[in-house]
Amino acid sequence: MRLAAHHRARGDQVHFTRRVRRELFEPAYDLVYGSAIFRFSADRVERFRHEFPGAIVGGTGSGSDATVEELIGDAVELDYSLYPAFDSSIGFTQRGCRLSCKFCVVPAKEGRPRAVATAAEIWRGPPWPKNLHLLDNDFFGQADWQARIDEIRAGGFKVSFTQGINVRAVTPAVAEALAGVEYRCNEFRRRRLYTAWDNLKDEDTFFRGVDMLEAAGVPARHLMAFMLIGFDKRETWDRIHHRFDRMVERGIKPYPMPFDQTNRDLKRFQRWAVLGIHRLVPFSEYRAGFKTKRAAARRSDGDLFDGEAA
Ligand code: SF4
Repeated sequence: MRLAAHHRARGDQVHFTRRVRRELFEPAYDLVYGSAIFRFSADRVERFRHEFPGAIVGGTGSGSDATVEELIGDAVELDYSLYPAFDSSIGFTQRGCRLSCKFCVVPAKEGRPRAVATAAEIWRGPPWPKNLHLLDNDFFGQADWQARIDEIRAGGFKVSFTQGINVRAVTPAVAEALAGVEYRCNEFRRRRLYTAWDNLKDEDTFFRGVDMLEAAGVPARHLMAFMLIGFDKRETWDRIHHRFDRMVERGIKPYPMPFDQTNRDLKRFQRWAVLGIHRLVPFSEYRAGFKTKRAAARRSDGDLFDGEAA
């Protein structure tokens, strides 16, 4: 969206596509950009490079360090015409993160937290709804977070912290600030705060943050917690279920995120959790159903973890 705004401002025509293959009658372009977030799309990146030799490809999944800032500077204007059905506003109030989780590229790519825009700068103005998708990875890591909260409240904005807030770093002041804003889910329909519990060892810290949020007026049922599964070398089904069960008991909605997207059992666990099947049938039974079908088809894909699923 930033690249498109930059080129349109220069009088260029912009064509946007999600396809990696050149279409039959597609013209030649002066310049081609591609973006890939996830490493598991490496084969699509390779195909794209083959179809569009000379394309500038960026993103964490591209294997390239190229950034939009290097190409066009710090301009933050966005071309929303690429997404005509989208009526919210999207952007970052800050970049960077205070933490350094082993699996994450943000600290290496963005460094320490720094402010980059105000809420008013992110909103695209009337007649668009005052719905802000904040892509910040560490909203409360910026020195001026209170000023941003004040703007959000005074401006009557609804805000979706789409990348989540770090519940491990919640303080009473942060909890009070969150309780005072109209935080919403990505569709802006329901009250929702996104967060994460990725490591079992963070159990006490995680629930200390949940307690603080509840004390300030953010009920646990408003929380959706992403849980990375299959990354920790000591991961077992018991450890996964412990995290999952503790969150469900508390009213939190867990959202498992398999580290290895090719692991079918972890993907099944994700589906079982996200679709609410866990309320109807234990995972062991759900998983056994697939195993029975696989056996009948004389195929086997083995187990990732030691121990039985609960
Ligand atoms: S808190 Fe989030 S953004 Fe920061 S390093 Fe960890 S995963 Fe990355």
